[in-house]
Amino acid sequence: MDDPVIEGLDVYRVGGAVRDAYLGWPVSDTDWVVVGATPEAMRRRGFKPVGRDFPVFLHPETHEEYALARTERKSGHGYTGFTVHARPDVTLEEDLARRDLTINAMAETPDGQLVDPHGGLADLRARTLRHVSPAFVEDPLRVLRTARFLARYDHLGFTIADETRALMRQLARSGELEHLVAERVWTETEKALAEPSPAAYFRALHDCQALAALLPELADDERWLDTALGRLDRLPAMLEASDRRCWRWARLVEHLGDEAREAIAERLRLPRVYRDLARQVALTRWLWQATVIDADSVQRWLDDIDAWRRPERVAPLVGLLQREAPPHGVAVAHGWAAARQVAPQPLLAAGYRGAALGEALTRERRVRLAEALAIG
Ligand code: ATP
Repeated sequence: MDDPVIEGLDVYRVGGAVRDAYLGWPVSDTDWVVVGATPEAMRRRGFKPVGRDFPVFLHPETHEEYALARTERKSGHGYTGFTVHARPDVTLEEDLARRDLTINAMAETPDGQLVDPHGGLADLRARTLRHVSPAFVEDPLRVLRTARFLARYDHLGFTIADETRALMRQLARSGELEHLVAERVWTETEKALAEPSPAAYFRALHDCQALAALLPELADDERWLDTALGRLDRLPAMLEASDRRCWRWARLVEHLGDEAREAIAERLRLPRVYRDLARQVALTRWLWQATVIDADSVQRWLDDIDAWRRPERVAPLVGLLQREAPPHGVAVAHGWAAARQVAPQPLLAAGYRGAALGEALTRERRVRLAEALAIG
């Protein structure tokens, strides 16, 4: 290793980078732990301090994260209620012992030797998510993280160890989950929605009774929850990969009433795009559940989703409609194609202005919709 910035420092690659390398996955971010150093010594070497709560530094060239080895002791509620101890006498083993899951508690020397005091590699090979120590229960966020890792690795055959499930239940029962701030809950949930098996995240949370604390609107009825989880990947064809998590969220909550959906959105402070799409999908659900659709219902739907001002919304929603009720999907696609041709210019030329113009446009669109639906 010929890097003068870290020369002579006792450093170890840790966490996700080691785990993913042993899984044979591409490693994007590498995190390092530094043992036996002080913040001053790190600064003198040119590292840039970034941690607000713990001593973490960025390497001046690679910009990878180097954290001083630390221990944590619970001193309050929730994710932030910890006293951090990061002096040079903290060992690598002590630092690894504070981590959540054994597969996340492996380290590697710069020349590739594995340091694995908690059996992370054996758990990785056995496809098991297992807590490192009983201190797991000190941080309620770990319930969500464990569920999220299941969403990521479920398709590889990973399961959560029974003892870890028991600790997750204990945490859920203790009431500690209520101390998690909305932002943490949403960050984990949003990440889980982008994983290969998002349903596994919600299922794991439900199984340990955490869902009842976090999303009671979904946990209330077992059958509705099952159905909702079953449709997370029933999405319109040809979605951008980056839009998938937003669509999955919308599908998760589409059966809830407006009030319950809004209550979740407020509580978790959901971004606008999630709220808007969830509402549009819920409105579209009315269409595919209708036995027959007519020009009135389609026009109301187009008005409700604000299609005239936001025409880009229509195609993916029609795509969803086509998945759920193909004949309705085809009919609405025809209706929309016809109605959107109605242009204001001829009406302006005919002297319509203001409210009268709006009414004339609506009438004209209604006529085109009715014609297209009759033919379709
Ligand atoms: P990802 O691939 O999602 O980034 P990661 O394991 O790198 O996974 P980070 O959130 O970056 O996840 O955390 C880095 C490491 O810090 C983890 O591997 C784990 O060892 C430890 N860690 C993070 N959050 C916690 C926590 N709440 N409790 C215990 N250990 C944690």
